[in-house]
Amino acid sequence: MALPVQINPKHNKSTLERVCFYYEENFIRGLLRGCIGGASLNCINLVVPMNPCPCGYYPDAERCSCTEPRVRRYMGKVSGPILDRIDLCVELESVDYESLRNRTKGESSGEIRRRVEQARQIQEARFEGSAYRFNGDIEVSAMERYCRLGEEQQRCMEQLYASLQLSARAYHRILRVARTIADLEGAEEIGVPHLMEASFYRPSTEYWGH
Ligand SMILES: [Zn+2]
Repeated sequence: MALPVQINPKHNKSTLERVCFYYEENFIRGLLRGCIGGASLNCINLVVPMNPCPCGYYPDAERCSCTEPRVRRYMGKVSGPILDRIDLCVELESVDYESLRNRTKGESSGEIRRRVEQARQIQEARFEGSAYRFNGDIEVSAMERYCRLGEEQQRCMEQLYASLQLSARAYHRILRVARTIADLEGAEEIGVPHLMEASFYRPSTEYWGH
C-alpha cells in the first residue's frame, strides 16, 4: 500500500516534525487500521513529494521567481530529523523535449517485479524465526548480524559518514537500503557499489547543504 503524504514546507516546521514523529510511532499505521476496519497491514510505503521552492521551478533560473534566501528558508523547514527518517530521497528533473523523444526502453515493470519478488523471498528466508520481515525492520542492535560489512566496505562507510556528515540514523538507513540493493541483485554480501548507490538516496546537499 502506498500512502502519499504531501510535505508542504509552507506549513509550520513543528507541525512537520510532529507528522514525522507520529509516522515513526506507527500513528499512520494505526490510523489506517482503524479506517479499514481492523484488517492488518503488512507494510506501508510512505511517499512524500515536495517542490524545491515556493513557485516550484527552482533551479530553473528562467522560470523560478524565488530569491535564493527564500528557497533556503523554504527547504530549511524540512529539517534533518525528518529527512533522516526517509529511506529514499530522489530528486526529479524536468525532461526536455529531445530526451522525451529519444527515451530508450529500460527494464520493464514485469522484469522489475520479478526482481522485487526474489528480493522478498531472500528476506523471508533471512528473517525466518525472527521478529523482522523486511530489511527496513532491522534494528540497530541487529545490524551487525544482518548487515555485516567487510573491511573495504567499512572503510567506504567511514568515508561516507565523514563526507556526507551523516547522523547515526542516516548511517543505519544507508546500511538497510544497501542490504536491499544487494538483495535485488541476488548478492549475498553487501558490496561497496551497494553502499555507494544507497548513499545517493540521501537528500541532495544542493538543497540541504551542511
Ligand atoms: Zn521558485
